[in-house]
Amino acid sequence: METYLVGGSVRDQLLGLPIKDKDWVVVGSTPEEMLAQGYQAVGKDFPVFLHPETHEEYALARTERKTAPGYKGFVVHAEPDVSLEQDLLRRDLTINAIAQDENGHLIDPHNGQQDLKDKVLRHVSPAFTEDPVRVLRIARFAARFNFTIADETKQLIQQMVAAKELDHLVSERVWQELVKALESEQPSLFFMALRDTNALASIFPEIDQLFGVPQVPKWHPEIDTGIHVMMVLDQAAELSKEITVRFAALCHDLGKGTTPKDVLPQHIGHEARSIDLTAALSQRLRVPKDIQSLALKVAEYHTHVHLLFELRPATILKIFEALDAFRRPERFEHFLLAGEADFRGRPGYEHLPMPEINAFKQCFSAVQTITAKPFVDEGLQGPAIAEAMRAHRIKVINDVMKAYQH
Ligand code: ATP
Ligand code: MG
Repeated sequence: METYLVGGSVRDQLLGLPIKDKDWVVVGSTPEEMLAQGYQAVGKDFPVFLHPETHEEYALARTERKTAPGYKGFVVHAEPDVSLEQDLLRRDLTINAIAQDENGHLIDPHNGQQDLKDKVLRHVSPAFTEDPVRVLRIARFAARFNFTIADETKQLIQQMVAAKELDHLVSERVWQELVKALESEQPSLFFMALRDTNALASIFPEIDQLFGVPQVPKWHPEIDTGIHVMMVLDQAAELSKEITVRFAALCHDLGKGTTPKDVLPQHIGHEARSIDLTAALSQRLRVPKDIQSLALKVAEYHTHVHLLFELRPATILKIFEALDAFRRPERFEHFLLAGEADFRGRPGYEHLPMPEINAFKQCFSAVQTITAKPFVDEGLQGPAIAEAMRAHRIKVINDVMKAYQH
């Protein structure tokens, strides 16, 4: 039995990046032998084992053959006669199909090293089309490494899209890959890669339809809503590591994609449409509740961040309440970061001062510390306590905002 390091760990090592998890392939062994050596079986659909000490993944070399559409339509063959080269042939991209033996020697039958040098994402074999997840994977590698997709691979993906192969994607998997894409430094590259291969309309139609929709040039020099949202997303990634913030940035203007044509380039009331589209997208992808709920609040209130100095104190308080910010102050922090990304996601605005941020924060710290105690001590009871607290909060917000009016 021989073991080789494969996949992401070899690729990342060649790129000089830190290695997250090591994946191994085992040639010439059987499940019985692996178990006898103390490995733990974990794979459901194919034989994968955990090393007894390192707990790293060891997969038996295998071939796969597509027999029916969808996920389950694979026949897996993992016998001791499967060679390393055969196993490498079933992998998605040349840069992911390099193996390394115990002596550090690289086995690279598909010239993955050359593609790493050229920063190119290229499919290993025509079998690439058999699994639609690969379309998402390639787009997120485009974002993570800032690589381009080889022309022949682009064509292959366009064929997959035309053949409706992407309809077989399972929502959990789309969300998983989206999270990984959102983790990259420039998540817009993920969506641009999908758009470039015609896949965006199949996977994220609500984002695809933003492209070509105009906005008022005075406020949006970029004009195109799709470009704006991509810029906001990248600004969000620069401002925060939180997926919550990045996802909210992605969704905040979805409503602009369904603005009636006769009112363009205005988008009055787009916030309500953003809420509906964000809810539908979140439901479809089964987005975790917390992430979803912040995105909904950002969809509803993002315009208020820009208009802060025109808001009534009661409206400002309403935003804190809607965010449940008194119990969960980080929600306000995330909301504000998404709002800042929205402001900066326009050409020329990237580094402009945004006084609304500090003013908003000041309002929040001023009201955050207000408790029920003084009102209880005064002898108030029942709903009167909450009412008095609200009135006091509104007064305090008013005082903070007054200091900004000169
Ligand atoms: P990451 O750095 O995100 O983990 P990765 O390439 O290591 O990326 P894994 O899911 O860990 O991704 O898979 C390990 C390897 O298995 C890949 O490098 C690739 O060779 C192969 N692989 C994973 N998923 C697929 C797929 N859907 N189709 C073909 N090969 C795949
Ligand atoms: Mg990996």
